[in-house]
Amino acid sequence: MIVLLSGGTGTPKLIQGLRKVLPDSEITVVVNTAEDLWVSGGFLSPDIDTLIYLFSGVLDLERWWGIAGDTFVTHDELLRLGSDEYIAIGDRDRALQIRRGEMLRQGLTLTDATGALCSKLGVSACILPMTDSPVATLVRTGGRTIHFQEYWVRHRGNLSVDEVFRHWDGPDEATPRVLSSILSCEGVVIGPSNPVTSILPILECRGVREALREVPVVAVSPFIGDAPVSGPAAALMEARGFSPDSAGTSALYGDIVDAFVQDIRDPVPVPGAVRADTLMKTPEIAKDLSLLVLSLIREARARPRSTTPADR
Ligand code: GDP
Repeated sequence: MIVLLSGGTGTPKLIQGLRKVLPDSEITVVVNTAEDLWVSGGFLSPDIDTLIYLFSGVLDLERWWGIAGDTFVTHDELLRLGSDEYIAIGDRDRALQIRRGEMLRQGLTLTDATGALCSKLGVSACILPMTDSPVATLVRTGGRTIHFQEYWVRHRGNLSVDEVFRHWDGPDEATPRVLSSILSCEGVVIGPSNPVTSILPILECRGVREALREVPVVAVSPFIGDAPVSGPAAALMEARGFSPDSAGTSALYGDIVDAFVQDIRDPVPVPGAVRADTLMKTPEIAKDLSLLVLSLIREARARPRSTTPADR
């Protein structure tokens, strides 16, 4: 079994390729939940939703969120009625969020609610929220603090970022299933997701970094040069004190990574990194990258493991 740490765009693209070489039942995805939000009575978990839709074959592959061909009748009507719903939620997408909200209000954990939705939709991969505690990535900008969704969706990232941090409403810990999946897998892939808003929230969950030291870990950079392939990663990396490039990503992940993959075009060298085409314009490129990542996991498994993390 392979475990991936994922946000909602870059790593799902890699998983699209991985599915061509591994059965879904061999894939576990530990997913960022720090962008989750109650919206108009439903519970939006954007990164989990992208993965559920990817594995159930309905994802909108142009946008990498929502359901292909979805309609927005309810969203438009809500705006007409004076709602401040700044995230456009499709009608079928909303149904899943309403159902998830119902289950959470009945007292189910996010892990159990996700499992129930996956089984209804025929998903045989294992999709695990990183934590069952409510948590949010917040952005401090010009003296006020807003939710990451408000920064990125309402303001389209056009605000200065003074600080980006997590706010927890419960224990800041990974679920037992996340930790046991990591400890029992063949290897972990940190996919090319936004380091600060998608991967760091997972690494910050208590127990995750320690568990990752026990298994081979391969990371793929989301940067080519000083720009991410898409999205707001650069400003957020700088706000966290890291250079917005592959070197900063490698420094941020630190000693848990056994092999770091960066793009063949990337002008910012990371010592010891493996070079590959990481720009997944087609599922075939994602498949080739997946094969490389799997071979790096096999190589890391074949090497004797060091006794102290500092040796790695
Ligand atoms: P989010 O939850 O929608 O922000 O999605 P992720 O965090 O999973 O992914 C966003 C990151 O994916 C961005 O930093 C992009 O640079 C990266 N990304 C998107 N497509 C690609 C790709 O084809 N190759 C690589 N290397 N990175 C990509």
